[in-house]
Amino acid sequence: MAQSLPPAQRTASPPPTPTRSNSSAPTAPAGPRTAQASVPQTNGPQAPPDQGPAPAGSTQPTTHAALDASAAVARAADAKSAPPRLKVERVDAFYGSSRAVKEVNLDLPDRFVTAIIGPSGCGKSTLLRCLNRMHETLPGARVTGEVTLDGQNIYGREVNVTVVRQQIGMVFQRPTPFPTMSIYDNVAAGLSTLPKMPKHARVNEIVEKALRRAALWDEVKDRLRDSAVGLSGGQQQRLCIARALAIEPEVLLLDEPTASLDPLSTQKVEELVYELRRDMTVVIVTHNMQQAARVSDRTAFMLHGDLVEVAPTGELFTTPKDQRTEAYITGRFG
Ligand code: ADP
Ligand code: MG
Repeated sequence: MAQSLPPAQRTASPPPTPTRSNSSAPTAPAGPRTAQASVPQTNGPQAPPDQGPAPAGSTQPTTHAALDASAAVARAADAKSAPPRLKVERVDAFYGSSRAVKEVNLDLPDRFVTAIIGPSGCGKSTLLRCLNRMHETLPGARVTGEVTLDGQNIYGREVNVTVVRQQIGMVFQRPTPFPTMSIYDNVAAGLSTLPKMPKHARVNEIVEKALRRAALWDEVKDRLRDSAVGLSGGQQQRLCIARALAIEPEVLLLDEPTASLDPLSTQKVEELVYELRRDMTVVIVTHNMQQAARVSDRTAFMLHGDLVEVAPTGELFTTPKDQRTEAYITGRFG
């Protein structure tokens, strides 16, 4: 079983050196970590201030680099040996007769963050929606192939779709709080879909826990009954993450969760994503390669509906196996 890294190993590493001579750096990272990288950094955001003091000696950049590199290698090895939590097999996704996702096979190991990158329109969101049966809710859309959660096909005939969507939660590109509901009610909203609605006191606990996990509690604890639309965009997105977390999913799917956020909010969401893998399997779609490098353990590259390559994140960004991946990460198209 993969373990979360201790804080000392989660601090930012120096950027990996691309091995290709013609590599131009992707665009600058969105967050305040900009100063640290001109190419993707691997192994997570800087430790947020609330993670406690770093162990003695850990302020040495070389120490960080060494820890990060070995930790990344260890995690990559873990990912290969860990049984996948979610397994995608021969998945095709259609809109009418148009095939947007083509024969995708992908293993998503437990307690790892997998990023899906690729140019606009390559099928990232479509693939993500196939992972919790949201794709089929669109008109004319259908899916073939199998997606198994802990060995059970979520497309099986006997499967309850509501339960699938509880086990595999999703957060969309634009924050989607329920506008007429309070902050509290937004977080509690998903609980009514559970087989048994928890008692009132328990709901209070669940709401607080979800808001804490989404790093929003301190900002909203004194105004839980206020309308959710009074929150900033970044707070609304964390609220949506809290809503997804309240029903304790096993897998969390995030579709460009920071696309509409400012840099500070982006950083908060990235730190949160990085932390969530302590408890769950996370899949994040992003068009931002620095973000993929900062938050993910593994990265999958898609192009024209094909999953071209999946590899440990540091490996994919420094030594891609496929020419198309190399062309994309070095900025030759996209
Ligand atoms: P990405 O998330 O990588 O930008 P999408 O998964 O949204 O890509 O889209 C993949 C392809 O499917 C694109 O060609 C897009 O035009 C098409 N597509 C996406 N959503 C729909 C839809 N609701 N109806 C028809 N075609 C769609
Ligand atoms: Mg998309």
